[in-house]
Amino acid sequence: MANPLYDALFAPHEGKATPFLHLADGTGVTHAGFLEQVSQMANALGAVGVVPGDRVAVHIEKSPEALALYAACVKSGAVFLPLNTAYTPAELSYFVEDSGATLFLCDPAEVEAVTGIAKSTGATLHSLGAKGDGSFMDLARTQSSHSDIATRGTDDLAALLYTSGTTGRSKGAMLTQANLLSNAEALVEAWKFTEQDILLHALPIFHTHGLFVATNTLLLAGGAMIFLPKFDLDTVLRLMPKATTMMGVPTFYTRLLDDARFTADLASHMRLYISGSAPLLAETHVQFEQRTGHRILERYGMTETNMNTSNPYDGERRAGTVGFALPGVEVKICAPETGGTLPQGEIGVLEVRGPNVFKGYWNMPEKTREELREDGFFITGDLALIDADGYVQIVGRGKDLIISGGYNIYPKEIELFLDTLPGVRESAVIGAPHPDFGESVVAVLVREGTASLDLDAINEAVRENLAGFKRPRVIDVIDALPRNTMGKVQKNQLRETYAGVFQ
Ligand code: ATP
Ligand code: MG
Repeated sequence: MANPLYDALFAPHEGKATPFLHLADGTGVTHAGFLEQVSQMANALGAVGVVPGDRVAVHIEKSPEALALYAACVKSGAVFLPLNTAYTPAELSYFVEDSGATLFLCDPAEVEAVTGIAKSTGATLHSLGAKGDGSFMDLARTQSSHSDIATRGTDDLAALLYTSGTTGRSKGAMLTQANLLSNAEALVEAWKFTEQDILLHALPIFHTHGLFVATNTLLLAGGAMIFLPKFDLDTVLRLMPKATTMMGVPTFYTRLLDDARFTADLASHMRLYISGSAPLLAETHVQFEQRTGHRILERYGMTETNMNTSNPYDGERRAGTVGFALPGVEVKICAPETGGTLPQGEIGVLEVRGPNVFKGYWNMPEKTREELREDGFFITGDLALIDADGYVQIVGRGKDLIISGGYNIYPKEIELFLDTLPGVRESAVIGAPHPDFGESVVAVLVREGTASLDLDAINEAVRENLAGFKRPRVIDVIDALPRNTMGKVQKNQLRETYAGVFQ
């Protein structure tokens, strides 16, 4: 009788009066209290007919109860399926239907709006609110605070996590107990987490970053989390003195740097700041070090694989890179056409193999065959190179590559150049259909502060520094880049906006 993930992450904390979650209002949840609630929820899952292997789709706000539900699914052998809180009912129906979820937990306020989805998919509908309210919580509170641990194998599914949908329709990644556990082990080791750690947690928990990278790592290490509903600058600044570590997406760090209250003093006691989910601008890395003396540790991962690479804890944390493969993980750079490994320094598709790599896409055997090689390597779709010292640099996504008049153009190279120009805060470069070249280059810029940008000077700098085929033919200034909650630039959206500029 075993359940490797529950046994490693949760069982060791049963009955412990140590703090697990510190909440924004000053109250907290102990490990023991959390796990009693987990048992009640696991019993409630059983009471509504959930059996091991069933998918539990959840569209609920971040709360201690929402996290306990994840643990309850692990304990009862159900497959946890968290959904982006931003999804509308129209979007939700795809996920509930595709996953074949037996239970659909929604926010109490949206019960009416999603009743039709539950009816048409045959899922049982219950609600769970951020204040511990909702029909599922009412049921859980009537249950015993002891529950059995369902027997699961390392190869059994623990979660079904849909990808962010940055490059197309979200795909369900089947993650096993061993996928999650091996990655938590690698991260505790790589980032030296211990039971002394208190992680400032302001990330959503429907995504691999806030859910697995943060929570599983802290659970395995036995530490605690300052568990905030969202990234609110005032609250984060107020509570940072109580934290030892923080994990964030790049926008967390730029927002901190934009605020004068974020000082070296406020950060001096911190052990570690970690960034991921989207590229951290080298400039942010440098500014952060100038302000605080800390070098942000950037790492790289994805829904399908959890974390793959990380900058070193002890060695040099190199701006613009995502470091080295984690313990037990292999990475290589391959030619897109042949899959052959490329010589060091060349740009190609990053492939990854290890115990962290998922089992395949839910309901998509063909897509799985296309992206998961028989020898176990997963074709990430990210373009990357490995520098002379072995650091991996993500150059962009394969789908964002621009092919103009037969030339390959890497948007990142142009973005890095544009970002250095006076008055430019950040940029995004995309390809738009062009009658002669197939595609041509469009750049959108966001200005620093409120001063207007000198587009003539920018065009001049572009002419002097970039080869003709790489030069943006259209340069537009916009207020902000379209980003999702994880800080990922939505290039699909930009491509739609600029689809007609060369026609
Ligand atoms: P979809 O696969 O549906 O298009 P997505 O790839 O954005 O969406 P996620 O799994 O959430 O969905 O994101 C993984 C991707 O995020 C990686 O493939 C990579 O492109 C990007 N990413 C993550 N960390 C970093 C990083 N440190 N630097 C650059 N890119 C990163
Ligand atoms: Mg992806």
